[in-house]
Amino acid sequence: MTDIVIIGGGPAGISAALTAMHRGKSALIVSSAPEDSALWKAEHVDNYPGFHNATGAELLTALTEHARASGAGIVRGHALSVLPMGESFGVSVGADFVEGRAVIIACGLSRAKPFPGEAEFLGRGVSYCATCDGMLYRGRRVAVVGLAADAPEEAEYLRQIGCEVEYFDAKRARKYEIRGAERVSALLADGVEYPADCVFVLRPGVAPDALLPGLETDGGAIRTADDMSTNIPGVFAAGDCAGAPYQVAKAAGEGNTAALSASKYIENKFRKED
Ligand SMILES: Cc1cc2nc3c(=O)[nH]c(=O)nc-3n(C[C@H](O)[C@H](O)[C@H](O)COP(=O)(O)OP(=O)(O)OC[C@H]3O[C@@H](n4cnc5c(N)ncnc54)[C@H](O)[C@@H]3O)c2cc1C
Repeated sequence: MTDIVIIGGGPAGISAALTAMHRGKSALIVSSAPEDSALWKAEHVDNYPGFHNATGAELLTALTEHARASGAGIVRGHALSVLPMGESFGVSVGADFVEGRAVIIACGLSRAKPFPGEAEFLGRGVSYCATCDGMLYRGRRVAVVGLAADAPEEAEYLRQIGCEVEYFDAKRARKYEIRGAERVSALLADGVEYPADCVFVLRPGVAPDALLPGLETDGGAIRTADDMSTNIPGVFAAGDCAGAPYQVAKAAGEGNTAALSASKYIENKFRKED
């Protein structure tokens, strides 16, 4: 059991982890690959204090090393859902599960809209996790839509366990639709139909309200109070996922506030219940 599970290893999540550790709380960051962070894509960042004329990748590497050196745990993987469990929260990470007394969502901006058919066939031939569901499709045809940095590795894993993989990325197709009747039967990619028993949609993240049903959002941004709390007690949000301006300094500041608030939440809740 970790005190605070932080979803997202960009500047908001790393800042939250550092502050949590300074407040004597254990912190576990669950994050997809650094290349999936908005910051990694910035060629030039010159408005974050202390980093003159850095690339986004340099800045994120320095922040990540700081978090590791301070003792924060970092799990590379995609958080697929957050489950309130009474006293704590469970976060499913691929086929694994981690547990925290509080959660900070710092998952960045989610621009992805689900493909037509994706929600309809979820669990009936649409999967977000090769490790969780790959074995079910050994010897069968699967399509992989690879939108995350680690998607080629996941597709290779599916090949190794015996799936017949058709791989798609942004170079191969832009528009997708998932088709079927009771279950998935095909992926339509740029108008061409590919038969498939399962479509693995491998994105870097999940929209916040899909991650945690009942989480209030406003225009796609998680609704937060000044202390970065959300409408769900014990769940906090920080950074781009909590709204504009989309800037590193704002993300880091909100990560700091969210961690202070999450620490206070844990101290109050668990002291009262002792
Ligand atoms: C091209 C470009 C240039 C930019 N230039 C500047 C600039 O010059 N100055 C400036 O201040 N800002 C700039 N920005 C904006 C800045 O990068 C963002 O505001 C900042 O990175 C937001 O930090 P964050 O931690 O909220 O999100 P992110 O940096 O996006 O980090 C979120 C992380 O969480 C991961 N994640 C999401 N969902 C999940 C999940 N379900 N499970 C596991 N991991 C998940 C994501 O993949 C990502 O790695 C730029 C952005 C871009 C795209």
